[in-house]
Amino acid sequence: MDLDLKDRTVLVTGGAKGIGEAVTRALAAEGALPVVVDRDREAGEALRTELDASGARSALVVADLMEPGACRRAVEEALGVTGRLDAVVNNAGVNDRVSLEEGTVEDFVRSLRRNLIHYFEIAQYALPALKETRGAIVNVSSKVAMTGQGGTSGYAASKGGILALTREWAVDLAPAGVRVNAVVPAEVMTPLYRQWLGTFPDPDEKLADIVRRVPLGRRMTTPEEIAAVVLFLLSPRSGHTTGQYLFADGGYVHLDRAIT
Ligand code: NAP
Repeated sequence: MDLDLKDRTVLVTGGAKGIGEAVTRALAAEGALPVVVDRDREAGEALRTELDASGARSALVVADLMEPGACRRAVEEALGVTGRLDAVVNNAGVNDRVSLEEGTVEDFVRSLRRNLIHYFEIAQYALPALKETRGAIVNVSSKVAMTGQGGTSGYAASKGGILALTREWAVDLAPAGVRVNAVVPAEVMTPLYRQWLGTFPDPDEKLADIVRRVPLGRRMTTPEEIAAVVLFLLSPRSGHTTGQYLFADGGYVHLDRAIT
């Protein structure tokens, strides 16, 4: 299937590593122009150099989206690349474990800044351009929004908020022809996930314990499998799909526990 993404300019937050990197690579492979917004300069530059060398187009904006003014600058710089913006992938985030029992209100608010507020800011600054192109937004949430995890109130509130905003913005933007959808990953091997596994005394044992609970294939979802769903939702092939949550999780959230 031709996804018809060629020459489309797509802003990808957190696009230098993990799930975002897979989205960036998949967009580049489709002939789109991913604009990576990431605070990891080294990873972003290495990816851009590699894509350049392969003949693919991409751009990089180094920014920490938690900083004041960063989201506005990211959108302005993205618009400066081709003068248009066809889509936004809101993806950057960190499960920062601000808990109900031990986190302070300030920690909680900071977690919302880390995981939720920049989704709103990026969407708001990108809106005029997205209306012009009748574009799309894909928001990356997390299974934690549906299942909880324990000890991570700020992240859970953010990821739940992202799902609510996905539906809210789908309503807001339907008259303008802008579609808004969410992808909900559960267990995806990325640098962040690897780092988290490393906090356990026996990371391999922890990983084995997690994957045996994934109904489909008893394995992690790959970043490429998430990216494929993101690209479908960005593309005109999903032209009548809006306000939806796609769970690319091997059945982790919805299937009967009895089978695991
Ligand atoms: P990752 O491996 O850490 O990659 C994310 C990239 O985004 C990193 O380069 C990171 O930089 C960057 N980033 C994070 N916060 C940023 C900010 N405020 N400003 C600019 N760049 C920022 O993470 P991932 O596992 O791919 O996760 C991507 C998204 O998927 C997140 O929203 C996460 O909550 C969600 N998710 C992941 C999983 C999973 O199993 N991996 C499951 C459910 C949901 P640094 O390295 O400097 O932080």
